[in-house]
Amino acid sequence: MALTLDNYFSPGWRDQLHTCAACEWQGSARQMPMELHEDEAQFDCPQCENPILLVVHPSLAQVQAAAADGHPEAIDQLQILAAAPRPH
Ligand SMILES: [Zn+2]
Repeated sequence: MALTLDNYFSPGWRDQLHTCAACEWQGSARQMPMELHEDEAQFDCPQCENPILLVVHPSLAQVQAAAADGHPEAIDQLQILAAAPRPH
């Protein structure tokens, strides 16, 4: 069963070591292939494709809170959102 992370901006998750429940491969999310879904990013075991980690896409409130804390990625995302054309 995959681990779900519901705060994209929580520190260090990309470097955290995970063990695949199916084949006992060990590594971090940086070494796992990622699949993008509508609500989350899914990281799979590179050895057996078992889903290991699900990272839920941040909500606007989470992006704003993380940007207020000085998270560089969140600040970038807010700037992208601010530059996007608004619906009429
Ligand atoms: Zn595996």
